[in-house]
Amino acid sequence: MIGTQKKYVSQFTMMGTVISLTLFEPNQLAVEAVYDYLQRMDGVFSVNRADSELAAINQYAGIHPVLVSTECFQLVSDAIKYTKQYADSFNVLIGPLVKLWKIGFGGHQVPAAKGISQRLALLDTHEVILDEAQSSIYLRQSGMQLDLGAIAKGYFADQVVKQLQQAGITNAIVNLGGNVKLLGANPLTDNRRWQVGIQAPEAPRGYPALQVEMPARTVVTSGIFERYFKIGNHRYHHILDPRTGYPVENQVDQVSIITERSELAEVLSTVAYFEGPNRGCQLIEQLPHTEAIFIDHEQQVTVTSGLTPRRKGVFTIE
Ligand code: ADP
Ligand code: MG
Repeated sequence: MIGTQKKYVSQFTMMGTVISLTLFEPNQLAVEAVYDYLQRMDGVFSVNRADSELAAINQYAGIHPVLVSTECFQLVSDAIKYTKQYADSFNVLIGPLVKLWKIGFGGHQVPAAKGISQRLALLDTHEVILDEAQSSIYLRQSGMQLDLGAIAKGYFADQVVKQLQQAGITNAIVNLGGNVKLLGANPLTDNRRWQVGIQAPEAPRGYPALQVEMPARTVVTSGIFERYFKIGNHRYHHILDPRTGYPVENQVDQVSIITERSELAEVLSTVAYFEGPNRGCQLIEQLPHTEAIFIDHEQQVTVTSGLTPRRKGVFTIE
């Protein structure tokens, strides 16, 4: 009976965010395996640890290749592939500009134009040498820096769900700091579907602007209210344009992508942010099992055609 179904929520803080795992039967071993996995990934990818593999790749840019774990090689290869595919928006080499702007990390002034233009020269994927046989990564120019901030959580979410499946778990919610990935059917609803809230851009957590009813998918949002600084009325936010070196200027507050792979959803949420609702919907409509929700500065909502409005603020995906 649905009313007696329990859920088991585990929560911990890691990677600078809150991670929560919801299961529908107790499985402490699986929870600990996920914890250990994410802990290990933090050691590989942390930007705050000088001894992480990612830090070593950046530190030895222009000096020599760095041997890395299979996970690191995989995620960086994926990120480079997407950077080549979406060259005008998603760029994993954006690190030097992120460091220069310090948005969300105590930065409160616009960098000098010269500093920005110098760093734009460091975003070229041809200068990245991925040697699969050696499992090594080399950034050829000194000063180049990988920044996996717009993709890593998606990769982790996909891996965590894979691990849960391998542990025999059939239904789960994985939430990595707002990046949600669902597994299987929802034991708590009559129709076995999931309801996911889309956070309103500036609202406190727990006050969703919209609800989407869906089968097991992932939901990832990119927005400009998490990290920014303001000078007068001008908002400088953390999604930087790799063509100009400045924060993207458009009317979009946030974009949510709903699809099957969380890593792809992460990339698409950034790409769609750049494209805006018109071109963004066109792009997303071409991809199978993928939907997008745009919310603009006027709180105007634009959605792709696979999202059917049910009642005010509620959409469903078949
Ligand atoms: P959110 O954090 O809202 O999910 P994104 O997924 O777009 O937004 O990630 C933004 C982060 O990714 C930034 O904090 C920065 O570390 C990095 N980043 C900024 N601009 C870009 C870009 N054009 N391409 C790839 N990564 C970016
Ligand atoms: Mg993101």
